[in-house]
Amino acid sequence: MKLLANDGIDPAGKQMLEAAGFTVDTTFIPQDELPAKLQAYDAITVRSATKIRKALIDACPDLKLIGRGGVGMDNIDVEYAQSKGVAVHNTPAASSASVAELVFGHLFTGVRFLQDSNRRMPAEGSTKFNDLKKAYAKGIELRGKTLGILGFGRIGREVAKIAIGCGMDVLAFDLYPSVQELELELGGGTKVTVPVQYASKEEVIKKSDFLSLHVPFCDEPVLGTAEFEMMKKGAGLVNCSRGGTVDENALLEALNSGKLSFAGLDVFDNEPVPRAELLSHPKISLTPHIGASTNEAQERIGIELATLIINHFKQL
Ligand code: NAD
Repeated sequence: MKLLANDGIDPAGKQMLEAAGFTVDTTFIPQDELPAKLQAYDAITVRSATKIRKALIDACPDLKLIGRGGVGMDNIDVEYAQSKGVAVHNTPAASSASVAELVFGHLFTGVRFLQDSNRRMPAEGSTKFNDLKKAYAKGIELRGKTLGILGFGRIGREVAKIAIGCGMDVLAFDLYPSVQELELELGGGTKVTVPVQYASKEEVIKKSDFLSLHVPFCDEPVLGTAEFEMMKKGAGLVNCSRGGTVDENALLEALNSGKLSFAGLDVFDNEPVPRAELLSHPKISLTPHIGASTNEAQERIGIELATLIINHFKQL
């Protein structure tokens, strides 16, 4: 079996596949060359960069499997592939803990102005130290505050666990609430079970000091002008879900009017070219869609994907 890992695969997953007899090619083939070159492979793995659309699937009638290292499958025509007998697998749980930790990177940043301090200290830290000290003097703690989580799936639940560990209250909203309690694993192997407090979307938005978004891509933003108006004055927002889930115009308005005190963004409408007003905004902590990009998550993704692929071909 010949497999093309077009967006790379963690060495642990590659080793597993090779040990199971697969030939794994990690050479990157540009999108426009794939219709001709992918025909030589039985399977392909991608992350978010490579697109597997209908035309590519039609061009490769011998393709048997598409593996997506990560969660979202927006870059794959999944139903079409399946209708042509091509199996499609992703690794939904492997990166949840990493995304959740990044959410807290943004939250801790926002409440202490680190996004602005890190920009200004290099240039002004030695000449305006006391001015900057005053500018960033009114930070707040996360402890005791309420974190509202919109979308209480795998990542939302991991975020809730960290929040509870930090002494925060959590309010959750999900279209299909499924989990009634969370099991937290504390240091030393101690386990604690904590009930989940659900509320309506409106109640979560109104009562939270910070909101974190963990919904899939939707046609309409989940947060727009009306929702920002409902938020507490001085609230913070983190979006590590998907571009398009927050109305970026409404977000800028809320930041500029002082309604929101900060935002942490890992995802943007127009990736990979986010709008300049977001990138230069002093109240926005920014990362370039790196939620799942930790060594640990990539290793888990590689191993999960390799296991899925090996099991798939074993069953044939
Ligand atoms: P999940 O499917 O486990 O959870 C999503 C939850 O959202 C589900 O419980 C669903 O019922 C709920 N939901 C859907 N639409 C909703 C809505 N309009 N309002 C409220 N709830 C709604 O998914 P997940 O693994 O937790 O991923 C969440 C998001 O994070 C996805 O958009 C995913 O693409 C994104 N993600 C981002 C990164 C990153 O690098 N930043 C990495 C992985 C995943």
